[in-house]
Amino acid sequence: MTDRESSATGMIRLEEEWRMLQQQTSAEVRARLARIVLAQAPRIVEEFYGVLQQDGEVNQLVPDALVQSRLATTLRDWLLALFPGDEAPDFYTMAATQATVGGIHARINLQVAHVNRAWRQLGARLQAAIILEGGAPDETLVAMLRLLNGTLNMAFELMASAYTRDNRRAAKSEEAYRLFSLGQNLSQEREAQRAAIAEWTQSVLFRITTQHGTGRRVPLWQSEFGLWLTHRGSVIFDGIAELDQVRDAIDDIDNTILPHLANEGANAPEMLLRLQGRISEVKALLGECFGAATRIEGGHDPLTRMLNRRFMDTILARELTLVRKTDKRLTVLMIDIDNFKRINDRYGHAAGDTVLALCARAVMDAVRISDFVFRYGGEEFLLALVETSEAEALGMAERLRAAIGDLQIPLGDGELVRVTASVGLAEYKGHPDYLRLVKAADEALYRAKQNGRDRIETAG
Ligand code: GH3
Ligand code: MG
Ligand code: MG
Repeated sequence: MTDRESSATGMIRLEEEWRMLQQQTSAEVRARLARIVLAQAPRIVEEFYGVLQQDGEVNQLVPDALVQSRLATTLRDWLLALFPGDEAPDFYTMAATQATVGGIHARINLQVAHVNRAWRQLGARLQAAIILEGGAPDETLVAMLRLLNGTLNMAFELMASAYTRDNRRAAKSEEAYRLFSLGQNLSQEREAQRAAIAEWTQSVLFRITTQHGTGRRVPLWQSEFGLWLTHRGSVIFDGIAELDQVRDAIDDIDNTILPHLANEGANAPEMLLRLQGRISEVKALLGECFGAATRIEGGHDPLTRMLNRRFMDTILARELTLVRKTDKRLTVLMIDIDNFKRINDRYGHAAGDTVLALCARAVMDAVRISDFVFRYGGEEFLLALVETSEAEALGMAERLRAAIGDLQIPLGDGELVRVTASVGLAEYKGHPDYLRLVKAADEALYRAKQNGRDRIETAG
């Protein structure tokens, strides 16, 4: 069963359980429990984070200041939504909330086991309050406890399964990153293939010039290099445009040049020149292929040379952990080229690619080597400026905006095209979920677009 199927059947089962639980519960029981929850909420919230903070590592994830400023209210709202009063909460709304909570916990690396302890404490506190309240007939008491435990258990299960799913996804992306950065040793491979081509060339030229020889020679495709390219090289260079040109050049050598030379030997000087030209071409193209493969291997996008977005999660989560440990600052910029569709519409997609590559280079040239630059979307770039405050980042954003605006890009018939870009900026403010930071920058970018483009806006 796939993840999705098992989570779908799990959902149906939980919904059924939820429905039964609600059917067994009267409006009076619901209202009574809701009153108790409301009365206990401040104490529960305090205890919940108290339990979490007992663990030093977790304490860093949910520092006091954050609890005071935000988390306390969030938990309180969450609790009151689970026990709203005489109406039963909607199952899917409740499930969606739990999935969100689980996703956040996965992103900030707050482990289920830790949450579980705090959750149990919360349940125990409410149970005690129900029992101590007194004055209710036994069956009401039992119904209240059943509703309390049923609701909390289901909410926990939904939260935990979202946590597990998101956590596994994060682990996969981390694994991909590791594999990429470990990678094959490309520079070693590059040297070996250069040598193999040189050796093949020498042996061919040697035979032609010394033996004036006719007769069969080893085609390039069947040489050590040819075999490597057919197998390993095709995997390593998969998707790199120059690969096809390399193949064409080898075909020309094997199918036209070598047969000619086999017949005429050194008496075909133009064929010898053509062979040398083709060999240089193969070497140069191979260099391009290796360059592109190295960039891809390092997790880079070939067109913009920026980091691939799939590594964003891993890297930002790591940076946020560092920021929390060191009290340094971190600011995120989201850059989007203005009216880019018009460039594509007017000059074609290939020209659009050129503009994009040049804008990307302007950005890459302006940032420090320690910053992270991701290709976030088609023509959207996300920059994580490490150890940078909002004020410093504003200076950087202004330089980037100006650098893109100053570009004069020659397209086709020599026409010089200019573009502008809008920037959204958000500084890390202590929330451990990096998606919040990305979202804040994105919202600021949206405002920059609304306010006329070619400008910078800061998250409020
Ligand atoms: P806005 O100022 O609101 O950002 O306007 P826009 O036209 O730039 O709109 P939007 O950002 O929504 O669209 C970006 C367009 O960029 C959509 C897509 O056709 C184009 N695009 C995305 N990726 C690439 C790419 O790799 N190459 C090219 N040539 N175009 C791309
Ligand atoms: Mg755009
Ligand atoms: Mg866009």
